[in-house]
Amino acid sequence: MKIEENYSIKDINSLRINQLAKYFCSIETVEQFLEAIEFSKLKNLPILFIGEGSNIVFTKDYDGLVIKNNILGKIEHDERIVEIFSGENWHKFVDWSLSNERYGLENLALIPGTVGASPIQNIGAYGKEVSAFIKEVKSINTLTAEERIFSKEECNFGYRSSVFQNKKEYFITSVVFETHLEPCIDISYVSLEEFFRSSPKDIENLKPKDVFDGVSSLRKIILPDHNIEFNVGSFFKNLILEEGDFRNLTKIINVPYYEANSKYKVPSGYLIEAAGWKGNGMKNVKVSEQHALVITTNGNLDGNEIVRFADSIIDDIYDKFKVKLEIEPTLI
Ligand SMILES: Cc1cc2nc3c(=O)[nH]c(=O)nc-3n(C[C@H](O)[C@H](O)[C@H](O)COP(=O)(O)OP(=O)(O)OC[C@H]3O[C@@H](n4cnc5c(N)ncnc54)[C@H](O)[C@@H]3O)c2cc1C
Repeated sequence: MKIEENYSIKDINSLRINQLAKYFCSIETVEQFLEAIEFSKLKNLPILFIGEGSNIVFTKDYDGLVIKNNILGKIEHDERIVEIFSGENWHKFVDWSLSNERYGLENLALIPGTVGASPIQNIGAYGKEVSAFIKEVKSINTLTAEERIFSKEECNFGYRSSVFQNKKEYFITSVVFETHLEPCIDISYVSLEEFFRSSPKDIENLKPKDVFDGVSSLRKIILPDHNIEFNVGSFFKNLILEEGDFRNLTKIINVPYYEANSKYKVPSGYLIEAAGWKGNGMKNVKVSEQHALVITTNGNLDGNEIVRFADSIIDDIYDKFKVKLEIEPTLI
């Protein structure tokens, strides 16, 4: 395993932010991971795990060891349970599961990133979250080098959240998934249903592969291509408001919402668009013309510029609507 010094992380983060990692290595096995941990202990360095860098914002150089995860492989425990090593690409896993008659993940097609990062913020799209399919998460505690297996309950999954966001010492080595034996189509998410209603498909007889293809097509239509307009997907979480805050917001603006467990989920993109940000910004960074939740860059900026830009949106939304947006990706 090679450890490089003063490594540019530009090509390993989807915003193409050009900062340096003091040390960098890429690992393909758990043994290499343990070696990397030893190195960090010897030099007394903080460590940062990175998968495909599609949900991470470097605001400055990283004065420690960045470990890029390339641990690949899968173990089929039985026809429902499969263990996927954490460096595998998420979308390829969804595709594979469908081809192997393991159903349910179709709505989560084409989300960038690794399998190992999927539990971190409990990735979700089109009415589904990965937590619905996770049985357990296997990890190594970097402080003790011991394995710890988190049950689904211990993962404490919520909307774009999990226990791992506050337990950064755990490196996820594999995720054990439990999928369905039979197709279980769910296109109840409004924009997905509208998409299929306006397509030539017979909506009553959709197959999982139709949903996989439909979700993939829809994502290509509504989201900018992150290989051309660099981005991390949604830069802000949607708002989850208590009733009082929701009522106050509706006195200022009529918003679409979704009610669950006496809380109100409001699309933050709606407010950002209403405030006039969609398609607007500065030379190196702006709000996407296609999707108001997405901030895009031209790859010529330093990490601080994007955070300053995001902060100006947060302040403006607060001034106009008295609600506080929360940044979704990990800030380093
Ligand atoms: C165009 C685009 C669309 C997107 N759409 C969606 C969407 O629909 N829904 C959604 O939920 N997300 C979406 N995202 C965000 C992103 O795809 C997910 O968060 C994904 O899980 C990130 O995976 P990654 O491997 O790139 O993680 P990274 O960006 O590399 O890391 C993210 C965080 O996880 C930590 N981490 C990574 N691997 C490990 C590990 N093995 N063990 C412990 N910690 C780890 C990192 O330290 C960091 O804190 C989108 C991003 C883009 C660019």
